[in-house]
Amino acid sequence: MSFRVCINCYGIRVYPYMGFMVGQQYECQDCGERMVIPLEFDSEDEYRAFRGEMLGDAGDEEA
Ligand SMILES: [Zn+2]
Repeated sequence: MSFRVCINCYGIRVYPYMGFMVGQQYECQDCGERMVIPLEFDSEDEYRAFRGEMLGDAGDEEA
């Protein structure tokens, strides 16, 4: 299973958004960002690794 990820906040609640003039886009339900090409991951592990790297919240970081 692959899923789409917001390029702005890295949330996974990204859904297709049909704009009349601009064509197919995607919209993030978390931050409202609209994007033509969201990030896409094949597995949750890949997404977690990416997110951990970008946000530093991998969950197993040392204080
Ligand atoms: Zn977002």
